[in-house]
Amino acid sequence: MHLISNKAFINGSWISASTNKEFEVINPANGQVVGKVPDMDVQDTQKAIESAAEAFKTWQFTTAKERSTLLRKWYNLLVENQESIAKIMTAESGKPLAEALGEVNYGNSFIEWFSELARNVRGEILQSPVPNKKLFVEHHPIGVAALITPWNFPHAMITRKAGAALSAGCTCVIKPAEDTPLTALALMKLAEEAGIPKGVLNVVTSSREQAPAIGKLLCESPLVAGISFTGSTQVGKILYRQCASGVKRLGLELGGNAPFIVYDSANLQNAVHSALASKFRNCGQTCVASNRFLVQDKIYDAFVSKLVEEVEKLKIGDGSKPGINLGPLINQAQFKKVSELVDDAVSKGAEVKTGGKPVPELGEFFYKPTILTNIKENMLVYTEEVFGPVINVIKFETEDQSLQIANNTERGLAGYFFSEDVAQIFRVARKLEVGMVGVNEGLISTAEAPFGGVKESGLGREGSHHGVEDFTYIKYICVGNL
Ligand code: ADP
Repeated sequence: MHLISNKAFINGSWISASTNKEFEVINPANGQVVGKVPDMDVQDTQKAIESAAEAFKTWQFTTAKERSTLLRKWYNLLVENQESIAKIMTAESGKPLAEALGEVNYGNSFIEWFSELARNVRGEILQSPVPNKKLFVEHHPIGVAALITPWNFPHAMITRKAGAALSAGCTCVIKPAEDTPLTALALMKLAEEAGIPKGVLNVVTSSREQAPAIGKLLCESPLVAGISFTGSTQVGKILYRQCASGVKRLGLELGGNAPFIVYDSANLQNAVHSALASKFRNCGQTCVASNRFLVQDKIYDAFVSKLVEEVEKLKIGDGSKPGINLGPLINQAQFKKVSELVDDAVSKGAEVKTGGKPVPELGEFFYKPTILTNIKENMLVYTEEVFGPVINVIKFETEDQSLQIANNTERGLAGYFFSEDVAQIFRVARKLEVGMVGVNEGLISTAEAPFGGVKESGLGREGSHHGVEDFTYIKYICVGNL
Protein backbone atom coordinates (compact mmCIF):
# COMPACT_ATOMS: atom_id res chain seq x y z
CA MET A 1 0.00 0.00 0.00
CA HIS A 2 1.52 3.32 -1.03
CA LEU A 3 0.65 4.98 2.30
CA ILE A 4 2.64 2.54 4.44
CA SER A 5 6.07 3.85 5.32
CA ASN A 6 9.03 2.38 7.17
CA LYS A 7 10.79 5.75 7.37
CA ALA A 8 10.22 8.85 9.45
CA PHE A 9 9.56 12.24 7.83
CA ILE A 10 11.95 15.10 8.51
CA ASN A 11 12.54 18.19 6.38
CA GLY A 12 10.57 16.72 3.49
CA SER A 13 12.69 13.55 3.38
CA TRP A 14 11.84 9.99 4.36
CA ILE A 15 14.68 8.90 6.61
CA SER A 16 15.97 6.22 9.00
CA ALA A 17 17.14 6.84 12.54
CA SER A 18 20.71 8.13 12.79
CA THR A 19 21.47 4.94 14.74
CA ASN A 20 19.66 2.89 12.08
CA LYS A 21 17.56 1.34 14.85
CA GLU A 22 13.96 0.34 14.20
CA PHE A 23 11.04 -0.94 16.23
CA GLU A 24 8.14 -3.18 15.31
CA VAL A 25 4.52 -2.10 15.09
CA ILE A 26 2.30 -4.93 16.29
CA ASN A 27 -1.33 -5.73 15.43
CA PRO A 28 -2.96 -6.12 18.86
CA ALA A 29 -5.64 -8.44 17.43
CA ASN A 30 -3.22 -11.19 16.41
CA GLY A 31 0.30 -10.22 17.51
CA GLN A 32 1.53 -10.00 13.93
CA VAL A 33 4.12 -7.41 12.86
CA VAL A 34 2.39 -4.76 10.75
CA GLY A 35 5.56 -2.85 9.95
CA LYS A 36 8.83 -1.44 11.24
CA VAL A 37 9.66 2.23 11.73
CA PRO A 38 12.79 4.17 12.79
CA ASP A 39 13.49 4.25 16.50
CA MET A 40 14.64 7.86 16.60
CA ASP A 41 16.41 9.59 19.46
CA VAL A 42 17.16 13.13 20.60
CA GLN A 43 19.70 13.65 17.84
CA ASP A 44 17.08 12.93 15.17
CA THR A 45 14.55 15.04 17.06
CA GLN A 46 17.00 17.95 17.08
CA LYS A 47 17.17 17.71 13.27
CA ALA A 48 13.38 17.76 13.09
CA ILE A 49 13.22 20.82 15.35
CA GLU A 50 15.81 22.65 13.25
CA SER A 51 13.96 21.79 10.06
CA ALA A 52 10.69 23.10 11.52
CA ALA A 53 12.44 26.27 12.73
CA GLU A 54 13.92 26.85 9.26
CA ALA A 55 10.56 26.28 7.58
CA PHE A 56 8.87 28.67 10.02
CA LYS A 57 10.97 31.53 8.64
CA THR A 58 8.91 31.48 5.46
CA TRP A 59 5.73 29.60 6.43
CA GLN A 60 4.82 32.27 9.00
CA PHE A 61 4.66 34.88 6.23
CA THR A 62 2.48 32.89 3.83
CA THR A 63 -0.98 34.35 3.49
CA ALA A 64 -3.90 32.77 5.25
CA LYS A 65 -5.34 32.06 1.81
CA GLU A 66 -2.26 30.08 0.78
CA ARG A 67 -2.36 28.04 3.98
CA SER A 68 -6.08 27.49 3.60
CA THR A 69 -5.63 26.22 0.02
CA LEU A 70 -2.88 23.79 1.05
CA LEU A 71 -4.93 22.47 3.96
CA ARG A 72 -7.88 21.98 1.61
CA LYS A 73 -5.68 20.03 -0.82
CA TRP A 74 -4.49 17.85 2.06
CA TYR A 75 -8.10 17.36 3.15
CA ASN A 76 -9.17 16.30 -0.35
CA LEU A 77 -6.40 13.69 -0.47
CA LEU A 78 -7.30 12.45 2.99
CA VAL A 79 -10.88 11.95 1.84
CA GLU A 80 -9.77 10.17 -1.35
CA ASN A 81 -7.62 7.80 0.69
CA GLN A 82 -9.89 7.30 3.67
CA GLU A 83 -10.28 3.54 3.25
CA SER A 84 -6.53 2.93 3.02
CA ILE A 85 -5.89 5.04 6.11
CA ALA A 86 -8.64 3.22 8.01
CA LYS A 87 -7.11 -0.17 7.15
CA ILE A 88 -3.69 0.92 8.43
CA MET A 89 -5.33 2.22 11.60
CA THR A 90 -7.22 -1.02 12.23
CA ALA A 91 -4.06 -3.05 11.69
CA GLU A 92 -2.00 -1.10 14.23
CA SER A 93 -4.66 -0.07 16.77
CA GLY A 94 -7.14 -2.97 16.63
CA LYS A 95 -10.20 -0.74 16.34
CA PRO A 96 -12.96 -2.19 14.13
CA LEU A 97 -12.75 -1.07 10.52
CA ALA A 98 -16.09 0.78 10.57
CA GLU A 99 -14.93 2.68 13.62
CA ALA A 100 -11.54 3.40 12.05
CA LEU A 101 -13.35 4.84 9.06
CA GLY A 102 -15.41 6.94 11.47
CA GLU A 103 -12.22 8.27 13.02
CA VAL A 104 -10.74 9.04 9.61
CA ASN A 105 -13.83 11.11 8.80
CA TYR A 106 -13.63 12.82 12.16
CA GLY A 107 -9.87 13.40 11.81
CA ASN A 108 -10.26 14.73 8.27
CA SER A 109 -12.94 17.14 9.44
CA PHE A 110 -10.32 19.05 11.45
CA ILE A 111 -8.23 19.71 8.35
CA GLU A 112 -11.35 20.88 6.53
CA TRP A 113 -12.38 23.02 9.51
CA PHE A 114 -8.98 24.68 9.93
CA SER A 115 -8.60 25.25 6.20
CA GLU A 116 -11.79 27.32 6.47
CA LEU A 117 -10.88 28.94 9.76
CA ALA A 118 -7.42 30.06 8.58
CA ARG A 119 -8.94 32.96 6.64
CA ASN A 120 -11.13 33.99 9.54
CA VAL A 121 -8.49 34.62 12.17
CA ARG A 122 -8.95 38.36 12.53
CA GLY A 123 -7.41 41.15 14.53
CA GLU A 124 -9.09 44.13 16.17
CA ILE A 125 -8.92 47.90 16.03
CA LEU A 126 -9.46 49.34 19.50
CA GLN A 127 -10.96 52.66 20.53
CA SER A 128 -8.07 54.93 21.45
CA PRO A 129 -8.53 57.14 24.53
CA VAL A 130 -6.62 59.94 22.76
CA PRO A 131 -7.11 61.34 19.25
CA ASN A 132 -3.55 60.94 17.92
CA LYS A 133 -3.11 57.18 18.42
CA LYS A 134 -4.37 54.10 16.60
CA LEU A 135 -4.46 50.83 18.54
CA PHE A 136 -4.35 47.45 16.78
CA VAL A 137 -4.45 43.83 17.89
CA GLU A 138 -2.95 41.11 15.70
CA HIS A 139 -2.68 37.32 16.08
CA HIS A 140 0.73 35.88 15.25
CA PRO A 141 1.88 32.24 15.03
CA ILE A 142 3.92 31.23 18.08
CA GLY A 143 6.61 29.38 16.06
CA VAL A 144 7.54 25.70 16.11
CA ALA A 145 4.88 23.58 17.80
CA ALA A 146 5.72 20.13 19.15
CA LEU A 147 2.76 17.74 19.04
CA ILE A 148 2.88 14.60 21.19
CA THR A 149 -0.03 12.29 20.51
CA PRO A 150 -1.57 9.05 21.85
CA TRP A 151 -2.56 5.74 20.23
CA ASN A 152 -6.30 5.80 20.86
CA PHE A 153 -7.04 8.23 18.01
CA PRO A 154 -3.95 7.85 15.80
CA HIS A 155 -5.33 10.17 13.10
CA ALA A 156 -7.61 12.71 14.78
CA MET A 157 -5.28 13.63 17.63
CA ILE A 158 -2.72 14.66 15.02
CA THR A 159 -5.03 16.53 12.68
CA ARG A 160 -6.83 18.37 15.50
CA LYS A 161 -3.49 19.84 16.54
CA ALA A 162 -1.65 20.07 13.22
CA GLY A 163 -4.64 21.60 11.41
CA ALA A 164 -4.83 24.38 14.00
CA ALA A 165 -1.05 24.90 14.06
CA LEU A 166 -0.70 25.12 10.29
CA SER A 167 -3.69 27.39 9.86
CA ALA A 168 -2.16 29.77 12.41
CA GLY A 169 1.18 29.79 10.55
CA CYS A 170 3.15 27.47 12.87
CA THR A 171 5.33 24.56 11.80
CA CYS A 172 5.29 21.20 13.62
CA VAL A 173 7.37 18.40 15.02
CA ILE A 174 5.02 15.49 15.65
CA LYS A 175 5.85 12.58 17.95
CA PRO A 176 3.13 9.95 17.48
CA ALA A 177 2.53 7.16 19.99
CA GLU A 178 4.81 4.14 19.62
CA ASP A 179 1.81 1.82 19.13
CA THR A 180 0.43 3.72 16.13
CA PRO A 181 3.13 5.50 14.09
CA LEU A 182 1.98 4.14 10.71
CA THR A 183 -1.21 6.20 10.59
CA ALA A 184 0.83 9.32 11.34
CA LEU A 185 3.23 8.54 8.50
CA ALA A 186 0.32 7.86 6.12
CA LEU A 187 -0.98 11.36 6.90
CA MET A 188 2.47 12.76 6.04
CA LYS A 189 2.54 10.96 2.67
CA LEU A 190 -0.64 12.82 1.77
CA ALA A 191 0.56 16.13 3.21
CA GLU A 192 3.63 15.83 1.01
CA GLU A 193 1.46 15.03 -2.02
CA ALA A 194 -0.71 18.06 -1.20
CA GLY A 195 2.39 20.26 -1.53
CA ILE A 196 2.81 21.35 2.07
CA PRO A 197 6.38 22.71 2.01
CA LYS A 198 9.25 20.71 3.42
CA GLY A 199 9.94 21.17 7.11
CA VAL A 200 6.44 22.48 7.87
CA LEU A 201 5.40 19.02 9.12
CA ASN A 202 7.93 16.59 10.58
CA VAL A 203 7.27 13.22 12.19
CA VAL A 204 9.73 11.65 14.62
CA THR A 205 8.89 8.00 15.33
CA SER A 206 10.30 6.46 18.48
CA SER A 207 9.92 3.55 20.85
CA ARG A 208 8.61 4.09 24.36
CA GLU A 209 12.19 3.97 25.70
CA GLN A 210 13.18 7.10 23.75
CA ALA A 211 9.96 9.04 24.48
CA PRO A 212 11.02 10.68 27.79
CA ALA A 213 14.30 12.05 26.36
CA ILE A 214 12.59 13.24 23.17
CA GLY A 215 9.81 14.83 25.24
CA LYS A 216 12.36 16.63 27.40
CA LEU A 217 14.18 18.02 24.38
CA LEU A 218 10.91 19.22 22.82
CA CYS A 219 9.95 20.96 26.09
CA GLU A 220 13.35 22.55 26.67
CA SER A 221 14.61 23.42 23.19
CA PRO A 222 14.72 27.19 22.69
CA LEU A 223 13.67 26.60 19.08
CA VAL A 224 10.31 25.15 20.16
CA ALA A 225 7.63 27.70 21.07
CA GLY A 226 4.92 25.42 22.40
CA ILE A 227 3.86 21.89 23.17
CA SER A 228 0.48 20.35 22.53
CA PHE A 229 0.01 17.01 24.23
CA THR A 230 -2.78 14.45 24.43
CA GLY A 231 -2.22 11.50 26.71
CA SER A 232 -2.04 10.45 30.31
CA THR A 233 -2.26 12.88 33.21
CA GLN A 234 0.97 11.43 34.55
CA VAL A 235 2.98 12.31 31.41
CA GLY A 236 1.13 15.62 31.06
CA LYS A 237 2.38 16.69 34.46
CA ILE A 238 5.98 15.82 33.51
CA LEU A 239 5.69 17.96 30.37
CA TYR A 240 4.12 20.82 32.34
CA ARG A 241 7.10 20.85 34.71
CA GLN A 242 9.60 20.63 31.86
CA CYS A 243 7.96 23.48 29.98
CA ALA A 244 8.45 25.78 32.97
CA SER A 245 12.16 26.27 32.29
CA GLY A 246 11.49 28.06 29.01
CA VAL A 247 7.98 29.32 29.88
CA LYS A 248 6.63 27.40 26.89
CA ARG A 249 3.11 27.63 25.63
CA LEU A 250 1.32 24.43 26.62
CA GLY A 251 -1.90 22.71 25.58
CA LEU A 252 -2.81 19.57 27.52
CA GLU A 253 -5.63 17.10 26.86
CA LEU A 254 -5.32 14.60 29.69
CA GLY A 255 -7.32 11.86 31.29
CA GLY A 256 -11.00 12.07 32.17
CA ASN A 257 -13.28 10.33 34.62
CA ALA A 258 -16.60 11.08 32.98
CA PRO A 259 -19.81 10.61 34.94
CA PHE A 260 -22.83 9.29 33.04
CA ILE A 261 -25.89 10.17 35.12
CA VAL A 262 -29.31 8.73 34.45
CA TYR A 263 -32.13 10.55 36.29
CA ASP A 264 -35.53 8.99 36.91
CA SER A 265 -37.20 11.08 34.18
CA ALA A 266 -34.72 9.95 31.47
CA ASN A 267 -35.76 8.38 28.21
CA LEU A 268 -34.58 4.84 28.96
CA GLN A 269 -34.05 3.79 25.36
CA ASN A 270 -31.90 6.81 24.60
CA ALA A 271 -29.93 6.50 27.84
CA VAL A 272 -29.06 2.86 27.13
CA HIS A 273 -28.21 3.53 23.49
CA SER A 274 -26.01 6.50 24.46
CA ALA A 275 -24.33 4.49 27.21
CA LEU A 276 -23.18 1.95 24.62
CA ALA A 277 -21.97 4.67 22.26
CA SER A 278 -20.09 6.60 24.88
CA LYS A 279 -18.59 3.59 26.65
CA PHE A 280 -17.61 1.09 24.00
CA ARG A 281 -16.14 3.26 21.24
CA ASN A 282 -12.55 2.09 20.75
CA CYS A 283 -13.19 -0.64 23.33
CA GLY A 284 -13.61 1.97 26.06
CA GLN A 285 -10.20 3.48 25.38
CA THR A 286 -11.16 7.13 24.98
CA CYS A 287 -10.62 9.97 27.43
CA VAL A 288 -14.24 11.09 27.10
CA ALA A 289 -15.59 7.56 27.68
CA SER A 290 -18.11 7.37 30.50
CA ASN A 291 -16.28 6.00 33.49
CA ARG A 292 -18.87 6.06 36.26
CA PHE A 293 -22.53 5.27 35.64
CA LEU A 294 -24.72 6.92 38.26
CA VAL A 295 -28.33 5.79 38.07
CA GLN A 296 -31.25 7.10 40.14
CA ASP A 297 -33.06 4.53 42.26
CA LYS A 298 -36.46 4.41 40.47
CA ILE A 299 -35.01 3.82 36.97
CA TYR A 300 -32.07 1.71 38.21
CA ASP A 301 -33.45 -1.82 37.69
CA ALA A 302 -34.91 -1.07 34.25
CA PHE A 303 -31.69 0.64 33.10
CA VAL A 304 -29.38 -2.12 34.29
CA SER A 305 -31.42 -4.97 32.83
CA LYS A 306 -31.80 -3.24 29.43
CA LEU A 307 -28.09 -2.39 29.45
CA VAL A 308 -27.11 -6.01 30.14
CA GLU A 309 -29.39 -7.15 27.31
CA GLU A 310 -27.78 -4.71 24.84
CA VAL A 311 -24.19 -5.29 25.96
CA GLU A 312 -24.61 -9.03 25.49
CA LYS A 313 -25.42 -8.39 21.81
CA LEU A 314 -22.03 -6.74 21.18
CA LYS A 315 -19.64 -8.73 19.00
CA ILE A 316 -16.00 -8.80 19.98
CA GLY A 317 -13.22 -9.93 17.64
CA ASP A 318 -10.65 -9.00 15.00
CA GLY A 319 -11.73 -5.53 13.84
CA SER A 320 -10.74 -6.17 10.23
CA LYS A 321 -13.65 -8.66 9.97
CA PRO A 322 -17.18 -7.37 9.28
CA GLY A 323 -19.79 -6.95 12.00
CA ILE A 324 -17.37 -6.53 14.90
CA ASN A 325 -18.28 -3.93 17.57
CA LEU A 326 -15.26 -4.28 19.85
CA GLY A 327 -11.65 -5.05 19.05
CA PRO A 328 -8.83 -5.93 21.44
CA LEU A 329 -7.24 -3.61 23.98
CA ILE A 330 -4.19 -1.88 22.57
CA ASN A 331 -1.39 -3.69 24.42
CA GLN A 332 -0.32 -5.80 27.37
CA ALA A 333 -0.20 -2.85 29.79
CA GLN A 334 -3.81 -1.85 29.02
CA PHE A 335 -5.00 -5.44 29.18
CA LYS A 336 -3.34 -5.96 32.55
CA LYS A 337 -4.78 -2.73 33.92
CA VAL A 338 -8.36 -3.54 32.91
CA SER A 339 -8.13 -7.11 34.25
CA GLU A 340 -6.71 -5.89 37.55
CA LEU A 341 -9.36 -3.19 38.01
CA VAL A 342 -12.17 -5.71 37.50
CA ASP A 343 -10.54 -8.34 39.74
CA ASP A 344 -10.03 -5.74 42.47
CA ALA A 345 -13.71 -4.70 42.31
CA VAL A 346 -14.92 -8.29 42.36
CA SER A 347 -12.68 -9.15 45.31
CA LYS A 348 -14.25 -6.23 47.22
CA GLY A 349 -17.82 -7.33 46.54
CA ALA A 350 -18.79 -5.99 43.08
CA GLU A 351 -21.35 -8.09 41.23
CA VAL A 352 -20.55 -9.09 37.63
CA LYS A 353 -23.76 -8.66 35.61
CA THR A 354 -22.08 -9.69 32.37
CA GLY A 355 -18.50 -10.24 31.14
CA GLY A 356 -15.83 -9.82 33.78
CA LYS A 357 -13.18 -11.87 32.03
CA PRO A 358 -10.78 -12.00 29.09
CA VAL A 359 -11.46 -13.93 25.89
CA PRO A 360 -8.15 -15.80 25.36
CA GLU A 361 -9.53 -17.87 22.48
CA LEU A 362 -9.72 -14.66 20.39
CA GLY A 363 -6.23 -13.37 21.23
CA GLU A 364 -4.04 -12.07 24.01
CA PHE A 365 -5.65 -8.66 24.58
CA PHE A 366 -9.39 -9.28 24.22
CA TYR A 367 -11.61 -8.48 27.21
CA LYS A 368 -15.36 -9.11 27.41
CA PRO A 369 -17.62 -6.07 27.63
CA THR A 370 -18.41 -5.99 31.32
CA ILE A 371 -21.04 -4.56 33.65
CA LEU A 372 -20.34 -4.34 37.38
CA THR A 373 -22.82 -3.32 40.07
CA ASN A 374 -22.60 -2.98 43.85
CA ILE A 375 -19.68 -0.58 43.43
CA LYS A 376 -18.08 0.83 46.58
CA GLU A 377 -15.76 3.75 47.16
CA ASN A 378 -12.82 1.56 48.14
CA MET A 379 -12.73 -0.10 44.71
CA LEU A 380 -10.17 1.11 42.17
CA VAL A 381 -12.83 1.32 39.42
CA TYR A 382 -14.54 3.99 41.53
CA THR A 383 -11.66 6.44 41.22
CA GLU A 384 -9.49 5.34 38.30
CA GLU A 385 -10.04 5.87 34.61
CA VAL A 386 -10.69 2.31 33.40
CA PHE A 387 -9.84 2.85 29.71
CA GLY A 388 -11.49 -0.43 28.82
CA PRO A 389 -14.89 -2.02 28.11
CA VAL A 390 -16.09 -1.94 31.72
CA ILE A 391 -19.26 -0.25 32.96
CA ASN A 392 -19.59 0.22 36.70
CA VAL A 393 -23.01 1.23 37.96
CA ILE A 394 -23.65 3.18 41.15
CA LYS A 395 -27.16 3.79 42.55
CA PHE A 396 -28.12 7.20 43.97
CA GLU A 397 -31.28 8.81 45.33
CA THR A 398 -31.12 12.63 45.00
CA GLU A 399 -29.78 15.10 42.43
CA ASP A 400 -27.45 16.55 45.07
CA GLN A 401 -26.01 13.10 45.70
CA SER A 402 -25.43 12.55 41.98
CA LEU A 403 -23.55 15.85 41.69
CA GLN A 404 -21.54 15.19 44.80
CA ILE A 405 -20.37 11.82 43.41
CA ALA A 406 -19.88 13.16 39.87
CA ASN A 407 -17.71 16.09 41.01
CA ASN A 408 -15.76 14.12 43.59
CA THR A 409 -12.72 13.66 41.33
CA GLU A 410 -9.66 15.68 40.39
CA ARG A 411 -10.54 15.16 36.71
CA GLY A 412 -13.01 17.24 34.71
CA LEU A 413 -13.11 16.45 31.01
CA ALA A 414 -16.56 15.28 29.85
CA GLY A 415 -19.81 14.57 31.70
CA TYR A 416 -23.09 13.15 30.43
CA PHE A 417 -26.56 13.13 31.91
CA PHE A 418 -30.03 12.02 30.90
CA SER A 419 -33.15 13.81 32.05
CA GLU A 420 -36.43 15.05 30.60
CA ASP A 421 -36.82 17.67 33.34
CA VAL A 422 -35.97 21.05 31.79
CA ALA A 423 -35.09 22.82 35.02
CA GLN A 424 -32.90 19.91 36.05
CA ILE A 425 -31.13 20.00 32.69
CA PHE A 426 -29.99 23.58 33.24
CA ARG A 427 -29.17 23.04 36.92
CA VAL A 428 -27.03 19.97 36.37
CA ALA A 429 -25.32 21.29 33.22
CA ARG A 430 -24.23 24.32 35.25
CA LYS A 431 -23.03 22.37 38.28
CA LEU A 432 -21.06 19.58 36.63
CA GLU A 433 -17.35 20.42 36.99
CA VAL A 434 -16.26 19.47 33.47
CA GLY A 435 -15.22 21.15 30.22
CA MET A 436 -17.82 19.37 28.08
CA VAL A 437 -21.37 18.28 28.85
CA GLY A 438 -23.55 15.87 26.89
CA VAL A 439 -27.26 16.28 27.74
CA ASN A 440 -29.29 13.31 26.50
CA GLU A 441 -26.34 12.61 24.21
CA GLY A 442 -23.32 10.32 24.49
CA LEU A 443 -21.27 11.50 21.50
CA ILE A 444 -20.28 15.15 21.67
CA SER A 445 -16.97 15.63 19.82
CA THR A 446 -16.99 17.56 16.56
CA ALA A 447 -14.59 19.94 14.81
CA GLU A 448 -16.95 22.87 15.40
CA ALA A 449 -16.94 22.55 19.21
CA PRO A 450 -14.20 23.30 21.77
CA PHE A 451 -12.73 20.11 23.20
CA GLY A 452 -10.97 20.26 26.56
CA GLY A 453 -11.18 19.89 30.27
CA VAL A 454 -10.95 21.57 33.66
CA LYS A 455 -9.13 20.54 36.86
CA GLU A 456 -6.40 17.98 36.10
CA SER A 457 -7.90 17.09 32.73
CA GLY A 458 -5.95 19.78 30.97
CA LEU A 459 -5.30 23.24 29.64
CA GLY A 460 -6.62 24.93 26.53
CA ARG A 461 -9.18 23.90 23.94
CA GLU A 462 -8.83 22.07 20.63
CA GLY A 463 -11.12 22.28 17.62
CA SER A 464 -13.63 25.13 17.16
CA HIS A 465 -12.41 28.68 16.57
CA HIS A 466 -10.68 28.48 19.97
CA GLY A 467 -8.38 25.75 18.63
CA VAL A 468 -5.96 28.25 17.06
CA GLU A 469 -5.48 30.11 20.36
CA ASP A 470 -2.84 27.64 21.58
CA PHE A 471 -0.84 28.36 18.44
CA THR A 472 -1.08 32.14 18.28
CA TYR A 473 -0.03 35.01 20.49
CA ILE A 474 -1.60 38.42 20.66
CA LYS A 475 0.46 41.38 19.52
CA TYR A 476 -0.77 44.85 20.41
CA ILE A 477 0.48 47.65 18.15
CA CYS A 478 0.14 51.29 19.11
CA VAL A 479 0.73 53.80 16.31
CA GLY A 480 1.24 57.20 17.98
CA ASN A 481 1.82 60.85 17.21
CA LEU A 482 -0.59 60.85 14.29
P1 ADP B 1 -0.76 6.04 27.40
O1 ADP B 1 -0.57 5.65 28.85
O2 ADP B 1 -2.15 6.06 26.98
O3 ADP B 1 0.18 5.35 26.46
P2 ADP B 1 0.95 8.28 27.52
O4 ADP B 1 0.67 9.58 28.14
O5 ADP B 1 1.88 7.39 28.25
O6 ADP B 1 -0.43 7.57 27.34
O7 ADP B 1 1.45 8.43 26.04
C1 ADP B 1 1.00 9.45 25.17
C2 ADP B 1 2.15 9.94 24.33
O8 ADP B 1 3.16 10.45 25.19
C3 ADP B 1 2.84 8.86 23.51
O9 ADP B 1 3.23 9.44 22.27
C4 ADP B 1 4.06 8.51 24.33
O10 ADP B 1 5.14 8.00 23.59
C5 ADP B 1 4.42 9.87 24.87
N1 ADP B 1 5.23 9.85 26.11
C6 ADP B 1 5.30 8.90 27.05
N2 ADP B 1 6.14 9.29 28.04
C7 ADP B 1 6.62 10.51 27.69
C8 ADP B 1 7.51 11.46 28.31
N3 ADP B 1 8.07 11.24 29.47
N4 ADP B 1 7.73 12.62 27.64
C9 ADP B 1 7.15 12.87 26.46
N5 ADP B 1 6.30 12.03 25.85
C10 ADP B 1 6.03 10.87 26.45
